[in-house]
Amino acid sequence: MSHIINVPEIFGTDVFNEATMRERLESETYHAWKQCISTGSALPLEVANEIAEAMKVWATEKGATHYTHWFQPMTGITAEKHDSFIAPTGDGRVIMEFSGSELVRGEPDASSFPSGGLRATFEARGYTAWDPTAFAFVKDGSLYIPTCFFSYTGEALDKKTPLLRSLDEISREAVRILRLFGDTETQRVKVSVGPEQEYFLIPKSLYAQRLDLRLTGRTLFGAPAPKGQELDDHYFGTIRTRVSSFMKDLDEQLWRLGILSKTKHNEGAPCQHELAPIYSDAGNACDSNQLVMEIMKKCAAKHDLVCLLHEKPFAGVAGSGKHNNWSLCTDTGKNLFKPGKTPRQNAQFLVFLAAFIKGVDEYQDFLRSTVAHAGNDHRLGVTEAPPAIISIFLGDELTAVVESIINGTNYTDPKKSLMRIGVDVLPSIPKDTTDRNRTSPVAFTGNKFEFRMLGSSQSIAGPNIALNTIMAEELGKFADILENAENFDAALQKLVCDTLTEHQRIIFNGNGYSDEWKEEAARRGLSNHCNTAQALPTYVSQKNIDLVTKRGIFTESEFRARYEIHMQSYKKVIAIEARTCVDMVLHQILPAAVHYSRDLAKSVIDKKAVGVTCKAEQSLLDRLSAACDRVYDKCQALSDKLAAIPEQTEAAVNYMSDTIVPAMETLREDADLLEQLTDKTYWPYPTYSDLLFY
Ligand code: ADP
Ligand code: MG
Repeated sequence: MSHIINVPEIFGTDVFNEATMRERLESETYHAWKQCISTGSALPLEVANEIAEAMKVWATEKGATHYTHWFQPMTGITAEKHDSFIAPTGDGRVIMEFSGSELVRGEPDASSFPSGGLRATFEARGYTAWDPTAFAFVKDGSLYIPTCFFSYTGEALDKKTPLLRSLDEISREAVRILRLFGDTETQRVKVSVGPEQEYFLIPKSLYAQRLDLRLTGRTLFGAPAPKGQELDDHYFGTIRTRVSSFMKDLDEQLWRLGILSKTKHNEGAPCQHELAPIYSDAGNACDSNQLVMEIMKKCAAKHDLVCLLHEKPFAGVAGSGKHNNWSLCTDTGKNLFKPGKTPRQNAQFLVFLAAFIKGVDEYQDFLRSTVAHAGNDHRLGVTEAPPAIISIFLGDELTAVVESIINGTNYTDPKKSLMRIGVDVLPSIPKDTTDRNRTSPVAFTGNKFEFRMLGSSQSIAGPNIALNTIMAEELGKFADILENAENFDAALQKLVCDTLTEHQRIIFNGNGYSDEWKEEAARRGLSNHCNTAQALPTYVSQKNIDLVTKRGIFTESEFRARYEIHMQSYKKVIAIEARTCVDMVLHQILPAAVHYSRDLAKSVIDKKAVGVTCKAEQSLLDRLSAACDRVYDKCQALSDKLAAIPEQTEAAVNYMSDTIVPAMETLREDADLLEQLTDKTYWPYPTYSDLLFY
């Protein structure tokens, strides 16, 4: 195991990246590709042919025999179908072939992917098209071509297409603002994203014994272990050997694929870990995060571990999220959320800040709905993840600046009457003091915003599409005002001041876990959608439909189709969990308790026969039998309820949330009591102590 990794040498070796393209393509072809990327135009077929040929040669040198169009359908994970490069030569032999048209367009038989009703069955075909902004790579003997996935009629059926659309929108509007501040150089504003990925690792042999983990990704039953995370001895603790060899292996694979894996450490809960990459362009970050999740799972298997990406694998210990660090950066390398040194730079910073605050306030429901998902219902609002109420944490310094603008007072010198935007210098904002609040769903952390509501298993596409679109909309409105202003400075002052005043309610620096905040947020009129059934329907509000269609991110039918898919997915996930509960109770939990009860009863009879007291056995037997009866009744009740799920989507989602979920919870209470009362040798699957403290 002691092999030495030469990181710079292996980094990106499995990617057909820009350096490889420059090296392997004719200069004309390379420049034609560059041109297409910068203008967003289609690749001419001759160019595609040459790139395909070079890719094939490169990939076969790396051992690839197949190619696949790799895409991100609405399942939230990635999809691939592999074709070999072989072409018969007519004399019983084959050659390896790969054409430009095979590179740029594919037609997977995609009828089984969720489309939310967008594809009628008579036109079930879906098409994939190479996204030339994303590099092809070799993995497991195939050349992977990142693609967008759409229907015959051109409707997006994936998560990548709207993300790319939103990136164009935000760039266009941000550049308009930059021009107003005299920036003539920037051609494109990019969204940089760094997603921090949390996950659990448990032994494969134990995982295999739990039906709930195998079918649903989380434990549906399990009494708490005597020890939890109260000693804080896992967070940043020494990484055990088996896990560190997994991490080493994982890093190597990610680096080969050009993924900037940077930080790894143990997280709060036992068996919980985190990986953070260096941030990159949002499209790339989205692809990379999908690969990170997939490779984590595969790599864990090699080390006899299982990687759990579920938001809440274990009740009573912290669940897993994915902090989405988000900021805007010009193609000349300037971070637009970095407070500047000159009054002019600061004014520009404040415009971007005000637009962000306004957007998050106005579209809080939209943002919240993008993370509404069965697994995340166990996290949001519980005191380990942000509350379900959206608010923005700015930190003391920036809040003081905002307040001084709103109140017309000077931040640094109370004697001066007014903080004049574009004239005064902002106080410096130290990065380390901005990250104190861990309870905030959206936190300013020095030069970026950290959106912390995303669940660990979710694609990062959803919230990033929302953030980009909201921001594009607000920047666009600001640009309309400022471009037409007679006096730019006065208009700027008024715009920033009015915006901050109007949207101040979304700023909150306090403890998001407290009950006072819930009351205060309600007074401020902020939404508190505490579960998926409440949050998801707001996705398709008229306001959101207007926003996404106006911005060209989704057509109305694409948008509604997504809503339908998310609603259906919630319903299906809860139904699978509930059926698994019933299965485990009837086939494992009750039988175990019954066997143990029978042996206890025998013992009672035997002991009584010889005149020995058997108080313990008798008492245990009574408690076990009573709990068994309750478990049986509750299981039967759950089964009956499962048979009565309404047809209509909204009604079904509400039913799952209001009826099925509580029925599962109450069943679990008694089932977990059975676990606590039953001799461990009778218990049919590993307990929390076994799983978390192996
Ligand atoms: P933490 O949030 O744990 O304090 P850091 O702030 O160092 O950790 O970084 C967390 C993540 O934020 C990393 O993935 C990092 O690359 C990313 N990040 C840092 N700067 C930016 C930025 N300007 N835009 C987007 N992501 C960023
Ligand atoms: Mg963080």
